[in-house]
Amino acid sequence: MDAIPPGSWLGLLGGGQLGRMFCMAAQSLGYKVCVLDPGHDSPAGAVADYHIAADYVDEAALTELGLCCRAATTEFENVPAAALEFLARHCSVSPDAASVAIAQDRIAEKRFITASGIGVAPHRVIEREDDLRALDAQLFPAILKSARMGYDGKGQVPVETADAAHAAWHAMGRMPCVLEKKLALRLEVSVVACRTKDGSAVTFPLSENAHRGGILATSIAPARVDEVIAKRARDAALTLASRMNYVGVFCVEFFVLSDDSLLVNEIAPRPHNSGHYTIDACVTSQYEQQARVMANLPLGDTSQMMPSVMLNILGDQWFAGSTSGEATHEPDWLSVLAVPGAKLHLYGKREARRGRKMGHVTCVAPTLSEALARAQRVAGALSIAPAT
Ligand code: ADP
Ligand code: MG
Repeated sequence: MDAIPPGSWLGLLGGGQLGRMFCMAAQSLGYKVCVLDPGHDSPAGAVADYHIAADYVDEAALTELGLCCRAATTEFENVPAAALEFLARHCSVSPDAASVAIAQDRIAEKRFITASGIGVAPHRVIEREDDLRALDAQLFPAILKSARMGYDGKGQVPVETADAAHAAWHAMGRMPCVLEKKLALRLEVSVVACRTKDGSAVTFPLSENAHRGGILATSIAPARVDEVIAKRARDAALTLASRMNYVGVFCVEFFVLSDDSLLVNEIAPRPHNSGHYTIDACVTSQYEQQARVMANLPLGDTSQMMPSVMLNILGDQWFAGSTSGEATHEPDWLSVLAVPGAKLHLYGKREARRGRKMGHVTCVAPTLSEALARAQRVAGALSIAPAT
């Protein structure tokens, strides 16, 4: 596979923060990046060398992107598979439409994971009224999750009983869903991994993730699990990638139960929030790795140099103490930056909204307990709940 040399153009579908960090990493390697995103004020569009403001299925825009770039990828998992297929007529596209299609649909995803011999949470596929009949009482309490377009806990309804599941499915417009048993989780962990066109693959150290309100709040890396669990998670990620013939960076989210069993929650066909730590704590970031795969370069070293704790910064911070209901409070960045080992990343979003990801801070230190202590100081400066 010929390497695409620095100075060439790489293309990106999607303009969010994951795309912004990809642009910066690719540019640092000497590439130019063209972003296609419908917005005029997107985090990635603002740093791209060229921004095409158009819909993802606009064929003229996709053609322009494909002719400009030698290789393209996506930072947005709900990009229409048809857009990736169309783009592939003009340039090399990874991951391919088939892989993204699996990760976009919880039903296809769960079938694929199960067929790969890897466990998922007990669930029932709900596509029609009949699927709600004779539900096993063991499935409750449960979460009804829309099969498509869910993120940050959106499109999910907790349900205690079969009747509640029935009502929730109707309220969701009878769209295809999975009804999943709500499990007692000991931990949530994730593995960011990366696979090249010739099938070589590497994983980053696991992160241990805590969510608040369905949104990732903190990630601790390396995760506090024993080596056996970490290896099982890494192996499962690599098995899934090779069975999909996946090319690119991806993330597998896992549930760890009290008996140490490991279940796959979901697969993201792109870099992941829980892998932000790789920018500051690893030799190679997940975003640089994404550029390396696209350009057929050797994969980078995924070693972690220092333990890290990542805190997500949501738009809610801008509403602190607001009596008018407006986002008027600018968080105290100077106090954050005064903490040793605290690395601030802001995504350049003009408008703060509640629940909107505005940035993150990664705290690195020679030991995990010091990294946690630094993260606690950052959390105090931002008035957010610390990592524990
Ligand atoms: P999203 O696509 O929004 O990330 P997830 O299915 O990953 O959706 O759910 C978001 C979070 O909700 C998970 O990280 C986990 O904390 C919690 N959650 C989801 N499914 C379950 C479950 N079956 N049991 C317990 N907690 C769950
Ligand atoms: Mg998730």
